Amino acid sequence: MEMANRPRICVISKSFGQYCKEALEILKSFSEVEIKSVKEQKEIIDVVKEFDGIIVGNEKINKEIINNAVRLKIIARHGVGIDNIDIDAATERGIVVTYTPQANSDSVAEYTIALILNIMRMIPKLHNITVNGGWNRILGYELMGKTVGIIGFGGIGKRVAKKLGGFDVKILVYDPYVKEEDIKKFGATPAQLDELLKTSDIITLHVALTSETKHLITRDKLKLMKNTAYLINTSRGAVVDEKALYEALKERWIAGAALDVFEEEPINPRNPLLTLENVIVTPHNANFTLEALRRTDLMNAEDLRRFFNGQKPTYIANPQVYSK
Ligand code: NAD
Repeated sequence: MEMANRPRICVISKSFGQYCKEALEILKSFSEVEIKSVKEQKEIIDVVKEFDGIIVGNEKINKEIINNAVRLKIIARHGVGIDNIDIDAATERGIVVTYTPQANSDSVAEYTIALILNIMRMIPKLHNITVNGGWNRILGYELMGKTVGIIGFGGIGKRVAKKLGGFDVKILVYDPYVKEEDIKKFGATPAQLDELLKTSDIITLHVALTSETKHLITRDKLKLMKNTAYLINTSRGAVVDEKALYEALKERWIAGAALDVFEEEPINPRNPLLTLENVIVTPHNANFTLEALRRTDLMNAEDLRRFFNGQKPTYIANPQVYSK
C-alpha cells in the first residue's frame, strides 16, 4: 500500500502488542500505527477522530464518541465482552466492530476452576496466615461428589464443563439458548434456573451481560441457594445484584463467593464485599494469560489486515453492518 493511502490505526487497548510483537508487525505491514495511552474516558473522543481503525480494551466507546469519529471504519475489541461498545451506534454509522471470541475462553475456564478450589479450601486465607507467622489449618471441602451449576453455556461455560470432567462432579446447566442435546454432549444435565440454584453446591456464572442478564442473580435468587453453596463470578459484575450478594454472604445465606468482576471496576476500596471473610476477590484477571493475550492480539491484527485489504473480517460482532 502507498504510504499516503495507508490506513491509520490507533491502539488504545493497554495490552495489545505488549506480549506479541508479531501482531504489531502485522499492523505495521499495512498501516500507520499509533499507540495512545488514554488516561481519561473524555480523551477518547479527540483521539478517535484521527483514525480509520482503533483497537480498544474495556474503554467505553459510546454513541457520542462514535458519532464524532469522522474517519473511523472499524473498531477492534481486544477481548470478548462487547458491552462497552455501542454496537447500534457503530452499525448505524457503518462501522464494523470485530472482537475475539474464544481467544481467552480456556484461560477464564481454568481460572474458574482455580477459584472454585480456592474458595472451597480457603487457600488465599491460608497463605496470608502462613506468611504472617501463623500455622492454623482451615477445614475445607472436596469438590468430588458435588453438584456444579453452570449458568450460561457458551464458549467459557462449555470449557468449564469439559475441564471439570476429571473431578467426579455432577454438572447442571441453565442456558435457554443452547439445545438440550448440546448440553448432554458435555456429560451435563439441562436444568431450569431455580432448580439449578436450589440444588447446586457451586454455581458459576458464564453469561454475557445483556439487558436480560443484568441482575439475573437477585436477592430472591440468592435466597434459593443452599447455605453451604458457593457462587463464582468471572462473567460481569452486574449479572449479580451486588448489594444483595453482600447481604447473602454477611448473613450466611450462602457459604462464600469468589469474584473476578464487579459492578464498579476498579472496585471501590470501600465496597463492603472487601470486608467479608468468606469472599475471594481478584481484579478482572481471569483472561490475563500470555497465551490468551497472544491469541487475542493475532485475531485483532489479522481481522484488521483483512478489513483494510477489502476482505470481510473473520470475527464480526455486528454482521448486520454488511447488509446496510
Ligand atoms: P458466549 O457468548 O460464548 O456465551 C454466553 C452464553 O450465555 C451463551 O451461550 C448464551 O446463550 C448464554 N445466555 C445468554 N442469555 C442468557 C440468560 N438469560 N440465561 C442463561 N444463559 C444465557 O460468551 P463466553 O465467551 O462464554 O463469555 C461469557 C462472558 O464471560 C463474556 O460475555 C464476558 O462478559 C465474560 N468474560 C470475562 C472475562 C474475565 O476476564 N473475567 C474474560 C472473558 C469473558
